Amino acid sequence: VHSSSGAEYPLIDHHCHGVLQRDLDDRELERALAETYLRAPADCSNWESPVGLAVRRWCAPVLDLAPYAEPAQYAARRRELGHREVNRRFLQAAGVSRFIVDTGTPGLSSPQELEEMAEVSALEVTRLEAVAEDVIAAGVEPAQYGDRVAEAVYERVSRSVAIKSVIAYRVGLAFDPRPPGEDEVESAAAKVAGVMGTRARLEEPVLLRHALWTGIGAAAEAKIPLQIHTGFGDPDLVLHRSDPALLTQFLRALMPLGIEVTLLHAYPYHRQAGYLAAMFPHVYVDVGLALNHVGASAPRVLAEIMELTPFHKHLYSSDAIALSELHLLGARLFRISLHEVLDGWLVRDHIDARTAERITELVAQRNADRVYGLAAPLEADEWVRVGRGTSRARVKPKPRLAR
Ligand SMILES: [Zn+2]
Repeated sequence: VHSSSGAEYPLIDHHCHGVLQRDLDDRELERALAETYLRAPADCSNWESPVGLAVRRWCAPVLDLAPYAEPAQYAARRRELGHREVNRRFLQAAGVSRFIVDTGTPGLSSPQELEEMAEVSALEVTRLEAVAEDVIAAGVEPAQYGDRVAEAVYERVSRSVAIKSVIAYRVGLAFDPRPPGEDEVESAAAKVAGVMGTRARLEEPVLLRHALWTGIGAAAEAKIPLQIHTGFGDPDLVLHRSDPALLTQFLRALMPLGIEVTLLHAYPYHRQAGYLAAMFPHVYVDVGLALNHVGASAPRVLAEIMELTPFHKHLYSSDAIALSELHLLGARLFRISLHEVLDGWLVRDHIDARTAERITELVAQRNADRVYGLAAPLEADEWVRVGRGTSRARVKPKPRLAR
């Protein structure tokens, strides 16, 4: 018995980052593999991890090496081919039809550069905290802070397909779910007066809520969704504060605004995220990032997110960052996992082949098309290029589904 999901079908990677555009020495490559800054013990390596093993298995052949190539051989081959060729191969082999790219991390390729390497379109996601940090870096009086952030956010939203918040990393997800008042924002901005004009990490809770709610206002007008980081990430995170169930009141507050919310990654709280997607009409989930980092266990994690999540609420992402291996690996592990889950259902007669195909289509592409307003082909009249190498402007409101 086979579902057709084993075949290569196009995916929309609804949340990823750019890649490094330089060659890496052995140690840089090893460190970029792990979401940790910590070094492995002597005589051990970050390659000895589920993600390291998965890269050796699934990425080595793309570089013309045998599966399970040794790390030193892998790193040498990567340098021999050079980063341009390596990035081109992995990004194209991913079989992704569109990349939706968070541009909040400096030092990585832009969506435009990713687009040229991958030869498919790459669209921008604006990270709200980074916009607020730019305003702080430019320096502003406390009384002007709110307006300046709003101007910058609206400008960025006009050329983005989503906004994103990393508030989970800064204060966790149990934040006060209400928008802050104007004078609260002014006095909070006065509190951070000492860092005005410098590159500082925004951690002030009122200003984080202000950036978030300003983004929500702009995104609701532009009819684009909000992506929120939930679940595991790098060691900056306090894990238990990133449980998406902590967002329940906030999600309720958003419901009347007509804005859609995608809970990114969620692992190991992906069951909570699936519950929220099942309860709230505007909430979507993915287990990107987790699939790469759990490697061989990806089918089990995907099966868990599919326990309760409605099929029309589940999205694909890689959350790949820095290494183009991760853009390919996410897609490979997702296809393997979805095939394994649906085939298991087919074998036990919980599903028919036609419905399995429909679910594959929804999760791989159609749900993201709908949430990000990409249903019409980008080349058609929905988008217009404002000159090569620059941003794009939306020229027509995207169609919305009735709820
Ligand atoms: Zn991310």
